[in-house]
Amino acid sequence: MDTIAPNDMTAIVEADRAHIWHHLLPHKPLETNDPRIIVEGKGMRVWDQKGKEHIDAVSGGVWTVNVGYGRVEIADAVHAQLVKINFFAQSAGSIPGSQFAERLISKMPGLSRVYFANSGSEANEKAFKMVRQISARHHGGKKHKILFRHRDYHGTTITALSAGGQDQRNAQYGPFTPGFVSVPHCLEYRAHEQEFGKGLTGEDYGVAAANAIEEVILREGPDTVGALCLEPVTAGGGVIVPPKGYWERVQEICEKYQILLHIDEVVCGVGRTGTWFGYQHYGVKPDFVTMAKGVASGYAAISCCVTSEKVFEMFKDDHADPLGYFRDISTFGGCTAGPAAALANMKIIENEDLLENTLRMGDYMLDQLKALQDRHAVIGEARGKGLFLGAELVKDRHTREPVAEKMVQAVVADCMAQGTIIGATNRSLDGYNNTLCFSPALIATKDDIDQIVSSVDSALGRVFG
Ligand code: PMP
Repeated sequence: MDTIAPNDMTAIVEADRAHIWHHLLPHKPLETNDPRIIVEGKGMRVWDQKGKEHIDAVSGGVWTVNVGYGRVEIADAVHAQLVKINFFAQSAGSIPGSQFAERLISKMPGLSRVYFANSGSEANEKAFKMVRQISARHHGGKKHKILFRHRDYHGTTITALSAGGQDQRNAQYGPFTPGFVSVPHCLEYRAHEQEFGKGLTGEDYGVAAANAIEEVILREGPDTVGALCLEPVTAGGGVIVPPKGYWERVQEICEKYQILLHIDEVVCGVGRTGTWFGYQHYGVKPDFVTMAKGVASGYAAISCCVTSEKVFEMFKDDHADPLGYFRDISTFGGCTAGPAAALANMKIIENEDLLENTLRMGDYMLDQLKALQDRHAVIGEARGKGLFLGAELVKDRHTREPVAEKMVQAVVADCMAQGTIIGATNRSLDGYNNTLCFSPALIATKDDIDQIVSSVDSALGRVFG
């Protein structure tokens, strides 16, 4: 039997319809509509099976392709590495592993160790396992609880979902792993709905939101809480940028109760917000930083759990003990394509000054989204950091009542029909799912941003009149 020819689009589409179980999609509509097959990409743009061009405002749909499509230098680096040695278990090292780790750590003062894995979920699970083992070895198993926030997301496995604050992703997958405790979020725009935040703004709200975490710690018992896991800027939960004062107070609370601080940089990491890592906007000193999507911009599957030397040392103090080290493996953490691609990706960001471009274009895009607010009352708030932005849609600016989820999807679909791919959030524990998301590649120009914003402008006009 011959393999389907790559240019036989009818057969490719039929094989997709017959055999592919797509991520995140209901399949009934695909019985009558063609699935979308992405055939090619260059820079900020992709082409589908019909040859239609799309500008991609969400970097591969899920904020991943930070340096854009068609980067021959990454492909070349991966090719050269694969023909030399493709894989060996991470109990041994590799040349690109050392090269990338050294370069990565140079961007992360205060941290020193890189643990390689394959996905964001898995990197987070590594940190969770480390916290549990530290509790077992150093606290008699008592300091095992891990706190996470409403609206944050840390991955798709059952344990990562146990730390998940987005209702739509969790419903039907329980029971979950015990020992994960939710704490309130820090979304100033919805302060009026939260017990701790009413009437507060800016730094006052930020400090109150952090204090709400402390209340949970005190309720649970600080000697039972091992770690606090947070996204620096929440992604799928609503593109939530914390106000000044929040992170400073979070850090103080963690230090006060000896709680390890785990920052999930799966989305924000490697340039997305205009600094190497999102937490670096806030001067925080984390114990764990996990990252995935932008690490190699999707040119290879790689994720990392980076820790401080203090964390690493907690596993090192008894070499004779067979349970005294981190008894964990991720088979494909030994694929050398990952660090080879990640190193080439990082060089592109440096050589093309993409952090600076991200800050500049991020400010420009936020201004453009705010200008859209003048024309569309449905935009309650436009917010973001770097090239990571959101527009929260409301029925009424005064009450801030969210628009229905299907209206948000209608805007996304209208943009898609115009050849502009944008995203939307996931439903959070408070039931909201009303924010449009934008995360164009870090190479975006003013013209690209104008094209994206103009599509959103027309879509809002058509959907909301
Ligand atoms: N953390 C965050 C903040 C994420 O947004 C995601 C994925 N959207 C993950 C973790 C999980 O990453 P992955 O899908 O690679 O497992």
